[in-house]
Amino acid sequence: MKKIGLFSLFLILTIFIAACGSKETSGEKTSSEKVYKVGVDTTYPPFEYKDGNDYKGIDIDLINAIAKNQGIKIELNPMDFGGIIPAMQANQLDVAIAGMSITDERKKVVDFSTPYFDAGLTVVVKKDNSTIKSVNDLKGKTVAVKKGTTGAKYAEDNASKLEIKVVQFNDSPAMFQEVSNGNADALIEDYPVISYAIAQKDLGLKIVGDRLNGDQYGIAVLKGQNQDVLKKINKGLEELKKDGTYDKIVETYLGKK
Ligand code: GLN
Repeated sequence: MKKIGLFSLFLILTIFIAACGSKETSGEKTSSEKVYKVGVDTTYPPFEYKDGNDYKGIDIDLINAIAKNQGIKIELNPMDFGGIIPAMQANQLDVAIAGMSITDERKKVVDFSTPYFDAGLTVVVKKDNSTIKSVNDLKGKTVAVKKGTTGAKYAEDNASKLEIKVVQFNDSPAMFQEVSNGNADALIEDYPVISYAIAQKDLGLKIVGDRLNGDQYGIAVLKGQNQDVLKKINKGLEELKKDGTYDKIVETYLGKK
Protein backbone atom coordinates (compact mmCIF):
# COMPACT_ATOMS: atom_id res chain seq x y z
CA MET A 1 0.00 0.00 0.00
CA LYS A 2 2.79 2.35 1.04
CA LYS A 3 4.68 1.39 -2.13
CA ILE A 4 1.69 2.25 -4.33
CA GLY A 5 1.33 5.56 -2.52
CA LEU A 6 4.93 6.46 -3.25
CA PHE A 7 4.60 5.35 -6.84
CA SER A 8 1.54 7.51 -7.45
CA LEU A 9 3.29 10.43 -5.80
CA PHE A 10 6.16 9.89 -8.21
CA LEU A 11 3.71 9.73 -11.13
CA ILE A 12 1.98 12.94 -10.06
CA LEU A 13 5.36 14.66 -9.72
CA THR A 14 6.46 13.46 -13.16
CA ILE A 15 3.25 14.72 -14.76
CA PHE A 16 3.61 18.02 -12.91
CA ILE A 17 7.19 18.53 -14.10
CA ALA A 18 6.24 17.60 -17.66
CA ALA A 19 3.34 20.05 -17.53
CA CYS A 20 5.64 22.83 -16.32
CA GLY A 21 8.02 22.05 -19.14
CA SER A 22 5.36 22.26 -21.81
CA LYS A 23 3.98 25.41 -20.27
CA GLU A 24 7.39 26.98 -20.69
CA THR A 25 7.60 26.16 -24.38
CA SER A 26 4.08 27.36 -25.09
CA GLY A 27 4.97 30.51 -23.17
CA GLU A 28 7.87 31.27 -25.53
CA LYS A 29 7.64 34.67 -27.10
CA THR A 30 5.77 34.54 -30.35
CA SER A 31 7.45 36.14 -33.35
CA SER A 32 5.10 39.13 -33.14
CA GLU A 33 6.45 40.10 -29.70
CA LYS A 34 10.09 39.30 -30.29
CA VAL A 35 12.40 42.16 -31.23
CA TYR A 36 14.85 40.82 -33.81
CA LYS A 37 18.38 42.13 -33.52
CA VAL A 38 19.58 43.15 -36.97
CA GLY A 39 23.30 43.60 -37.65
CA VAL A 40 24.16 46.41 -40.07
CA ASP A 41 27.51 47.72 -41.30
CA THR A 42 28.38 51.03 -39.62
CA THR A 43 29.50 52.94 -42.70
CA TYR A 44 28.46 51.57 -46.04
CA PRO A 45 26.53 54.15 -48.07
CA PRO A 46 24.29 53.93 -50.03
CA PHE A 47 23.27 50.79 -48.12
CA GLU A 48 23.74 51.96 -44.56
CA TYR A 49 25.07 55.12 -42.96
CA LYS A 50 24.47 57.40 -40.05
CA ASP A 51 22.69 60.68 -40.65
CA GLY A 52 22.53 62.63 -37.38
CA ASN A 53 21.06 60.16 -34.92
CA ASP A 54 19.36 58.14 -37.62
CA TYR A 55 20.52 55.31 -39.80
CA LYS A 56 19.71 55.63 -43.47
CA GLY A 57 20.31 53.74 -46.68
CA ILE A 58 18.86 51.09 -48.96
CA ASP A 59 19.39 48.25 -46.46
CA ILE A 60 17.95 50.28 -43.58
CA ASP A 61 14.82 51.34 -45.49
CA LEU A 62 14.42 47.85 -46.89
CA ILE A 63 14.61 46.02 -43.56
CA ASN A 64 12.27 48.57 -41.96
CA ALA A 65 9.79 48.17 -44.82
CA ILE A 66 10.00 44.37 -44.56
CA ALA A 67 9.44 44.54 -40.80
CA LYS A 68 6.41 46.77 -41.28
CA ASN A 69 5.01 44.65 -44.09
CA GLN A 70 5.40 41.44 -42.08
CA GLY A 71 4.49 42.83 -38.66
CA ILE A 72 7.82 42.06 -36.99
CA LYS A 73 9.83 44.22 -34.62
CA ILE A 74 13.49 44.91 -35.26
CA GLU A 75 16.34 46.73 -33.57
CA LEU A 76 19.39 47.88 -35.55
CA ASN A 77 22.84 46.90 -34.28
CA PRO A 78 25.50 48.80 -36.24
CA MET A 79 28.99 47.26 -36.21
CA ASP A 80 32.08 46.69 -38.33
CA PHE A 81 31.24 44.29 -41.14
CA GLY A 82 33.86 41.79 -40.00
CA GLY A 83 32.06 41.41 -36.67
CA ILE A 84 28.63 40.61 -38.05
CA ILE A 85 28.85 36.86 -38.79
CA PRO A 86 30.82 36.19 -35.54
CA ALA A 87 28.10 38.10 -33.62
CA MET A 88 25.44 35.93 -35.28
CA GLN A 89 27.38 32.82 -34.29
CA ALA A 90 27.55 34.13 -30.70
CA ASN A 91 23.75 34.57 -30.80
CA GLN A 92 24.03 38.32 -30.38
CA LEU A 93 22.24 38.98 -33.68
CA ASP A 94 19.22 37.34 -35.29
CA VAL A 95 19.45 38.86 -38.74
CA ALA A 96 22.07 40.68 -40.85
CA ILE A 97 21.59 43.12 -43.69
CA ALA A 98 24.89 44.72 -44.57
CA GLY A 99 25.45 44.70 -48.31
CA MET A 100 26.39 41.09 -47.62
CA SER A 101 27.23 39.08 -50.69
CA ILE A 102 25.79 35.61 -51.01
CA THR A 103 28.73 33.19 -51.15
CA ASP A 104 29.05 29.41 -50.90
CA GLU A 105 31.51 29.81 -48.05
CA ARG A 106 29.05 31.90 -46.00
CA LYS A 107 26.23 29.50 -46.83
CA LYS A 108 28.01 27.00 -44.57
CA VAL A 109 27.22 29.21 -41.55
CA VAL A 110 24.23 31.36 -42.56
CA ASP A 111 21.03 31.02 -44.57
CA PHE A 112 20.37 33.81 -47.07
CA SER A 113 17.15 35.38 -48.25
CA THR A 114 16.41 35.61 -51.94
CA PRO A 115 18.94 38.04 -53.52
CA TYR A 116 17.94 41.70 -53.38
CA PHE A 117 20.76 43.59 -55.12
CA ASP A 118 23.37 42.92 -57.83
CA ALA A 119 26.91 43.94 -56.92
CA GLY A 120 30.42 42.62 -57.59
CA LEU A 121 33.99 43.63 -56.81
CA THR A 122 36.13 46.22 -58.53
CA VAL A 123 39.68 47.60 -58.28
CA VAL A 124 40.09 51.25 -57.29
CA VAL A 125 43.22 53.41 -57.50
CA LYS A 126 44.22 57.01 -56.94
CA LYS A 127 42.76 59.30 -59.60
CA ASP A 128 46.18 60.30 -60.99
CA ASN A 129 47.50 56.74 -61.22
CA SER A 130 48.22 55.90 -64.85
CA THR A 131 50.01 52.58 -64.43
CA ILE A 132 47.33 50.42 -62.84
CA LYS A 133 44.62 49.85 -65.44
CA SER A 134 43.28 46.54 -64.19
CA VAL A 135 43.81 43.80 -61.65
CA ASN A 136 46.65 42.48 -63.82
CA ASP A 137 48.79 45.55 -63.12
CA LEU A 138 48.92 45.01 -59.36
CA LYS A 139 52.18 43.03 -59.23
CA GLY A 140 54.31 44.21 -56.30
CA LYS A 141 51.60 46.62 -55.14
CA THR A 142 49.93 47.12 -51.77
CA VAL A 143 46.19 46.48 -51.85
CA ALA A 144 43.83 47.72 -49.12
CA VAL A 145 40.78 45.61 -48.22
CA LYS A 146 38.11 45.53 -45.53
CA LYS A 147 38.16 42.75 -42.94
CA GLY A 148 35.79 39.85 -43.46
CA THR A 149 34.61 40.96 -46.90
CA THR A 150 34.53 39.24 -50.26
CA GLY A 151 37.10 41.85 -51.37
CA ALA A 152 39.46 40.71 -48.60
CA LYS A 153 38.92 37.09 -49.57
CA TYR A 154 39.57 37.82 -53.24
CA ALA A 155 42.83 39.61 -52.38
CA GLU A 156 44.01 36.91 -49.99
CA ASP A 157 43.11 34.05 -52.33
CA ASN A 158 44.96 35.73 -55.20
CA ALA A 159 47.82 37.33 -53.24
CA SER A 160 50.53 34.97 -54.40
CA LYS A 161 49.25 34.74 -57.97
CA LEU A 162 48.97 38.53 -58.32
CA GLU A 163 52.08 39.13 -56.16
CA ILE A 164 50.38 41.73 -54.01
CA LYS A 165 50.70 42.77 -50.39
CA VAL A 166 47.32 42.87 -48.65
CA VAL A 167 46.52 45.33 -45.85
CA GLN A 168 43.25 45.07 -43.90
CA PHE A 169 40.96 47.78 -42.52
CA ASN A 170 37.89 47.69 -40.29
CA ASP A 171 35.68 49.93 -42.41
CA SER A 172 35.37 51.26 -45.94
CA PRO A 173 36.22 54.95 -45.24
CA ALA A 174 39.55 53.93 -43.64
CA MET A 175 40.33 51.75 -46.64
CA PHE A 176 39.47 54.57 -49.11
CA GLN A 177 41.69 56.97 -47.16
CA GLU A 178 44.65 54.63 -47.39
CA VAL A 179 44.62 54.83 -51.17
CA SER A 180 43.73 58.55 -51.35
CA ASN A 181 46.72 59.40 -49.19
CA GLY A 182 49.04 57.11 -51.14
CA ASN A 183 49.79 54.56 -48.41
CA ALA A 184 48.32 51.78 -50.51
CA ASP A 185 48.29 51.52 -54.32
CA ALA A 186 44.82 50.07 -54.77
CA LEU A 187 41.76 48.83 -52.96
CA ILE A 188 39.02 46.33 -53.68
CA GLU A 189 35.45 47.35 -52.97
CA ASP A 190 31.92 46.55 -54.11
CA TYR A 191 31.15 48.41 -57.32
CA PRO A 192 27.85 50.06 -56.23
CA VAL A 193 29.45 51.31 -53.02
CA ILE A 194 32.60 52.84 -54.49
CA SER A 195 30.80 54.33 -57.49
CA TYR A 196 28.29 55.96 -55.10
CA ALA A 197 31.12 57.25 -52.87
CA ILE A 198 33.01 58.74 -55.84
CA ALA A 199 29.82 60.37 -57.17
CA GLN A 200 29.00 61.84 -53.74
CA LYS A 201 32.33 63.51 -53.15
CA ASP A 202 35.73 63.77 -54.73
CA LEU A 203 37.72 61.11 -52.94
CA GLY A 204 40.63 61.41 -55.37
CA LEU A 205 39.90 57.83 -56.46
CA LYS A 206 38.86 56.10 -59.68
CA ILE A 207 37.59 52.68 -60.71
CA VAL A 208 39.79 50.65 -63.07
CA GLY A 209 39.19 47.54 -65.17
CA ASP A 210 36.21 45.23 -65.34
CA ARG A 211 34.30 43.99 -62.35
CA LEU A 212 36.22 41.08 -60.80
CA ASN A 213 33.05 39.08 -60.23
CA GLY A 214 29.32 39.45 -60.13
CA ASP A 215 27.60 38.73 -56.88
CA GLN A 216 24.33 39.47 -55.15
CA TYR A 217 23.39 40.73 -51.72
CA GLY A 218 21.22 38.68 -49.40
CA ILE A 219 19.77 39.10 -45.91
CA ALA A 220 21.20 36.49 -43.54
CA VAL A 221 20.14 34.51 -40.48
CA LEU A 222 22.30 31.99 -38.66
CA LYS A 223 22.16 28.63 -40.44
CA GLY A 224 19.12 26.64 -39.35
CA GLN A 225 17.99 29.37 -36.92
CA ASN A 226 15.22 31.97 -37.20
CA GLN A 227 13.71 30.17 -40.17
CA ASP A 228 10.29 31.69 -39.43
CA VAL A 229 11.72 35.21 -39.73
CA LEU A 230 13.66 34.26 -42.88
CA LYS A 231 10.37 33.15 -44.46
CA LYS A 232 8.82 36.49 -43.52
CA ILE A 233 11.81 38.36 -44.93
CA ASN A 234 11.41 36.53 -48.24
CA LYS A 235 7.66 37.14 -48.26
CA GLY A 236 8.20 40.83 -47.42
CA LEU A 237 10.85 41.21 -50.14
CA GLU A 238 8.52 39.65 -52.67
CA GLU A 239 5.65 41.96 -51.72
CA LEU A 240 7.80 45.10 -51.67
CA LYS A 241 9.13 44.24 -55.12
CA LYS A 242 5.60 43.71 -56.39
CA ASP A 243 4.09 46.89 -54.95
CA GLY A 244 6.94 49.17 -56.10
CA THR A 245 8.30 49.95 -52.61
CA TYR A 246 11.61 48.23 -53.37
CA ASP A 247 12.18 50.34 -56.52
CA LYS A 248 11.20 53.48 -54.63
CA ILE A 249 13.76 52.75 -51.91
CA VAL A 250 16.56 52.12 -54.42
CA GLU A 251 15.61 55.28 -56.36
CA THR A 252 15.77 57.36 -53.17
CA TYR A 253 19.50 56.70 -53.01
CA LEU A 254 20.56 55.87 -56.57
CA GLY A 255 18.05 57.79 -58.67
CA LYS A 256 15.88 56.37 -61.42
CA LYS A 257 17.48 53.62 -63.50
N1 GLN B 1 29.62 42.69 -50.25
C1 GLN B 1 30.83 42.54 -49.50
C2 GLN B 1 30.78 41.29 -48.68
O1 GLN B 1 29.74 40.71 -48.55
C3 GLN B 1 31.13 43.74 -48.64
C4 GLN B 1 30.10 44.02 -47.60
C5 GLN B 1 30.42 45.18 -46.70
O2 GLN B 1 31.54 45.71 -46.72
N2 GLN B 1 29.45 45.63 -45.93
O3 GLN B 1 31.75 40.85 -48.14
